[in-house]
Amino acid sequence: MIEVIAFDADDTLWHNEGLYRAAREAFDLLLADYPPAADSEALIDRLEIDNLNYYSYGVMGFILSLIEAAIDLTDARMAADDIRTLIDLGKDMLTAEVELFSGVVEILEQLSETHTLMLITQGDLRHQQSKIARSGVRHFFSAVEIVSEKSPDVYQEIITRCGLPPERFLMIGNSLRSDVLPVLEIGAWAIYVPSDLTWTHDQSPLPAGLLGRFRQVDRLQELTAAIADLAAGSAGAEG
Ligand SMILES: [Mg+2]
Repeated sequence: MIEVIAFDADDTLWHNEGLYRAAREAFDLLLADYPPAADSEALIDRLEIDNLNYYSYGVMGFILSLIEAAIDLTDARMAADDIRTLIDLGKDMLTAEVELFSGVVEILEQLSETHTLMLITQGDLRHQQSKIARSGVRHFFSAVEIVSEKSPDVYQEIITRCGLPPERFLMIGNSLRSDVLPVLEIGAWAIYVPSDLTWTHDQSPLPAGLLGRFRQVDRLQELTAAIADLAAGSAGAEG
């Protein structure tokens, strides 16, 4: 039976990707003052992914990628004032209000009565700590893990530390790449809750043949039914 339910945070419990989209729009406006350059969208997308190796996930790596893109796209002519604007943009993102999705408090209240809840999130350590502290939902979670990468090894290490076999662990999140596939790989359970806005890097095609240990729901409010359905599946039937 599922004992521990872990939630992703960004774009699962609260809005996040919208801030990145807004920053990209602000970046485009800034760049409009310079001669048109090559495809800025493609360059930023590529830098963001390449730079994960250096900075991992989060706002700071994103802003450094924007600055790097700005230098390349303007042939190193971007004014220091404009680079300052990008840095300020990052600080605004780091201090932006945490806006919970509707129904988050209710579902956490409900599930915390029957399961041990955990939060597993990736990104800048200080930023994640600050968002969790300001979210108003920290008290629902018995443990919080802030990791630099959500790989099968990282999930395995977390559940081993909890003394938990994989079949008692369920992960819920908006990223197939980070919250679903690595969790299924170690033999645990996963529920995918797509959000309206998801970073392209997190979008991964849904593999065929995902049975038994996986469900997808449209809204957090459907979680209780999906968990009951998974549990019924674990009792014998294939989902
Ligand atoms: Mg997420």
